[in-house]
Amino acid sequence: MSYDFNPDSVELFAAHLIGGERVHAGETLKVFRPSDGLEALPIPVADAATVSRAVESADHAFRTSGWADANPLDRAAVLLRWADLIDANRERIARAEAIASSRPIADLMERDMVRATGAVRYFAQWADKVEGQLFAGKAGLSSYAKPEPYGVVGAITPFNFPVIHGIWKSAAPLAVGNAVVLKPSELTPYSSLLVAELAIEAGLPKGLFNIVLGAGATGAELVRHPLVRKVTFTGSSATGARIMAAAAENGTKPVTLELGGKTPQLVLRDVRNLDRVAGNIAAGFLANSGQVCTAGTRLIVPRELLEPLLEKVTVIANGRKAGPTWIAGNTLPPIISEKQAARIDAMLAETRRDGAEVLLGGGRVPEMNGGAYYQPTILSGVPDSSVGYTGEFFGPIMSVYGYDDEEEGIALANHPTYALAASLYTDNLQRAMSLVDRLEAGTVWVNAHGRQPDYATPQGGFNGSGFGKEMGRSGLETFLRSKTVVLNYGE
Ligand code: ADP
Repeated sequence: MSYDFNPDSVELFAAHLIGGERVHAGETLKVFRPSDGLEALPIPVADAATVSRAVESADHAFRTSGWADANPLDRAAVLLRWADLIDANRERIARAEAIASSRPIADLMERDMVRATGAVRYFAQWADKVEGQLFAGKAGLSSYAKPEPYGVVGAITPFNFPVIHGIWKSAAPLAVGNAVVLKPSELTPYSSLLVAELAIEAGLPKGLFNIVLGAGATGAELVRHPLVRKVTFTGSSATGARIMAAAAENGTKPVTLELGGKTPQLVLRDVRNLDRVAGNIAAGFLANSGQVCTAGTRLIVPRELLEPLLEKVTVIANGRKAGPTWIAGNTLPPIISEKQAARIDAMLAETRRDGAEVLLGGGRVPEMNGGAYYQPTILSGVPDSSVGYTGEFFGPIMSVYGYDDEEEGIALANHPTYALAASLYTDNLQRAMSLVDRLEAGTVWVNAHGRQPDYATPQGGFNGSGFGKEMGRSGLETFLRSKTVVLNYGE
C-alpha cells in the first residue's frame, strides 16, 4: 500500500484551542510547505491576552474539573481512549503533519504516529503508580512526602517531530493530573489541534489541554504567565537559555530543557561489520535530513578505517532520494524553511572559510520544486574554533575526524558545550562498558544510534544540551512536585 497523497486535497485547520473551542483571535502568520515552498493555511498568532485566556482556562479546568483528584485509573482510561482515537485518525493527523513539516508520510505513519500513541499508553499506565514516601518518626508524629501535579504546564515544541514532541509534553503531565497549554512551532502548527481535540473527545475535561499558536513571542508570553507553574521546552540552546532566564525572572518556575546536540559517532578499531556500522552512521546523520537534536554529526574513526567507512557511507548517502514528504519513496526530506536552509548555507560557507574541506555534497540539491533540500554533506578538517564545530547545522551535515590512539578518539568525542547523546560502535563489550563511563552525554548508544522505539528510557542531555528528562519514570516525575506533610497527632 502506498502512503502517497495529494497535499491540496487535505483540509487543514489553524486555530487556538481554548476550553475545547477553536479560537481564531490574533494577527495571521503565513505558513509555508517545506516540500514545495507553497503557502499553506496561515495561523492566528496568540498575543498576551489570548495566551492569558488559554492559561486561565487551563488553570480553571485544573481547579474545577476534578481531573487531578480523580481516581488515577479514571485518568488512565481517558488517556487510553485518547490513544485509540489517535490511532483511528492516524492518517488524517499524519497528512496534516507531513504538509507543514519535514516528516515523510511513510515515517509518520509507521514511526511517529506509532510512537506517539505508544507514549500515551505508556504514561496512561503510570497514572496509578505514582508513589510518595513515609518517613520514620516518633510515636504521634508522622511525616510524609506526597507527589502533586504542578497545575498548568507550559509546553513549547520545535518543528522537527511535532506529533511526538506534542504528545511527550502533554500525555505525561496529564497522566499525573496537570493541565497543559501547548505552543507548537509556528512552522508546523496543524497536527496538535487535531490531537488535542481527540483528547477531549476521549473524555478529557475541556480546558485541560489548550493550544496556542504563534511564534517565539507567544512562547515567551506563555513562559511569563504567572499561572504557568512549570515549563517544558525542546528546541535550540539559545532559545532554551532565554526561556530559562524568563522562567527565573517570572516566578522562579522550574524548567525542563531538551536542547541542541553535536552527537559524536565514535567507531572503535575492533568493529568487524563495516557495512552495518556504515548503515548506522549514515542514518545517524541523515534521518529527517539531519533535523534531529541527537543527529550524529561528528564521525570519529580510527584513521585506517576512515576511507573504507566513508566509501560505504557515501554510497548510502547518495542513495537517499530528495523530494516532498507526501511521496512515500522519498528519503531525504526538505529543510524546514528557506530561512533555515540559508542559515545552513551561511554556516557552511563560514566553516569552509575556516579551512574545512568538503568530501561530499556541500550545498543544496539543485532545482527541487520550490522546496529547500540539502545534499548529504561530509566535511573534514573542521577547526574547533569554527562555527561548524561550535554550532548545530541542523541539516544533513557530518564532520569526520581520524584518530590514531583511542584516547584521542575519546577526547574528540566529548564536546565542550553539547552533551545530549553519544554513539559508540564496537564489538568488544569490555571496551564498550569502560567507554560508556567516559563519554559525557545524557544518552550513550552502543551499536544502536538513535532513539529506540521504547518509552521507558529517559531522554535528555547534560551541559549545554539542557537538563531534565522526558519519557520513562523520570519523564513523569518531572511533572510532579513533592509536598512534605508533618502530622502531629500525639498527646
Ligand atoms: P527550532 O524550532 O529551530 O528548534 P527554536 O528553539 O527557536 O528553534 O524554537 C523552538 C520553539 O520555541 C518554537 O515553538 C518557537 O516558536 C519557540 N520560541 C522561540 N523563541 C522563544 C522564546 N523567546 N520564548 C519562548 N518560546 C520561544
